[in-house]
Amino acid sequence: MSNLLIIGAGGVGRVATFKAAMNDYVFKNIVLASRTKSKCDAIAKDIKEKLGVNVKTAEIDAMDVDATAKLIKDTNSDIVLNVALPYQDLAIMDACLKAGAHYVDTANYEHPDEAKFEYKLQWAKDSEFREKNLMALLGSGFDPGVTNVFTAFAAQELLDEIETLDILDCNAGDHGYPFATNFNPEINIREITQKGKYYENGEWKEIEPMSVSFKWNYPKVGEYPSYLLYHEELESLTKNFPSIKRARFFMTFSDKYLWHLRALQNVGMTNIEPIEVCKGCKISPMEFLKKVLPDPASLGPRTKGQTHIGVVVTGYKDGKKKRYYIYNICDHQCAFREVGAQCVSYTTGVPAMIGAKMIATKTWFSAGVKNMEEFQARPFMYELNKNGLPWFIEELPTEGLPIDEI
Ligand code: NDP
Repeated sequence: MSNLLIIGAGGVGRVATFKAAMNDYVFKNIVLASRTKSKCDAIAKDIKEKLGVNVKTAEIDAMDVDATAKLIKDTNSDIVLNVALPYQDLAIMDACLKAGAHYVDTANYEHPDEAKFEYKLQWAKDSEFREKNLMALLGSGFDPGVTNVFTAFAAQELLDEIETLDILDCNAGDHGYPFATNFNPEINIREITQKGKYYENGEWKEIEPMSVSFKWNYPKVGEYPSYLLYHEELESLTKNFPSIKRARFFMTFSDKYLWHLRALQNVGMTNIEPIEVCKGCKISPMEFLKKVLPDPASLGPRTKGQTHIGVVVTGYKDGKKKRYYIYNICDHQCAFREVGAQCVSYTTGVPAMIGAKMIATKTWFSAGVKNMEEFQARPFMYELNKNGLPWFIEELPTEGLPIDEI
């Protein structure tokens, strides 16, 4: 059994802590720490009432490497699950190296002042983790995370090699607000407002933000316009599966969401650069926007509908061209009834816990900094079924689909 320290008490932290408590035969002690301790205490109280499991709580500023290393040591934690913000990734990795703990996160490092989605600075810590026989598992959410595992499953069990990969992320849920983001607004909006980018024949090709879209019929959910964006898992997947000739990522947005986003962009409200709002007082418009938008953790009770996220892969099996679609559908209200959070937090928090469980049980273990697709997909897929995220596989025609026309 392992001791688990979870850092971050937002929507994802709530789900990951609930799910860890449901797997308490693997996690001996569970500690939830965050910047605001009262948020940890509220989650721990709900878990005690619903599951009868004790979760300890602590206050931590995860940017403080020494304080975090001390917390890891004081709580005797073997694994740290980072579900705070991507800004804290490097500091928490350093604290793990200092205190001798394994590391898991769900999003690649970002600097607060620039939106750069890349693994470079985290991969650079590979030799330090190897030297200490520790493992860092990067991107154990849904996308990145489960999408990497689905792709690995296709490569390991369905195809001899993958030729094209399309990741399709549809949130067909409605929270009833004119505009709100389903996870941290700052991280969400930075992702969408950057230039789109996809991989083709060994090169990265850029497009203007949200300028390419097509309509896809998401099984059991319906048809939604899906926009081409850059998403971080494309970087590791094209590196780890060099047979891939083209890799793209698409996400759905409602017209209502896009109108509001464009208006906010047009007036500069999504800018990251801090501006002086009164003498000596600077604030980034994006940070201010985050404060006035609904807290994503509060959307749970009002969000209805489903999320639908999956991968479409084509390639060859025994010389014959094949195409598969592997996906999950998650119902917002089912997730809320179970753990008190909507699906965007649920589909991230469940795989985050499973990533920690893979390390705790040594089902996945290799010293160094690793991405999800570097391991056998099957045990992780088994855990998804067991922990509330069942998946489906469909074989699709190899040509003539809308996805072939863009
Ligand atoms: P929230 O903003 O709801 O929660 C973040 C939590 O981290 C808050 O409790 C916050 O504290 C805490 N925190 C922030 N800074 C610090 C710090 N310096 N030290 C300690 N705690 C800190 O975010 P979400 O729960 O929606 O998202 C969590 C993570 O999951 C993000 O990194 C996000 O990018 C990732 N994600 C990944 C997805 C995937 O599929 N891979 C999908 C969705 C999200 P406070 O309450 O005081 O602000």
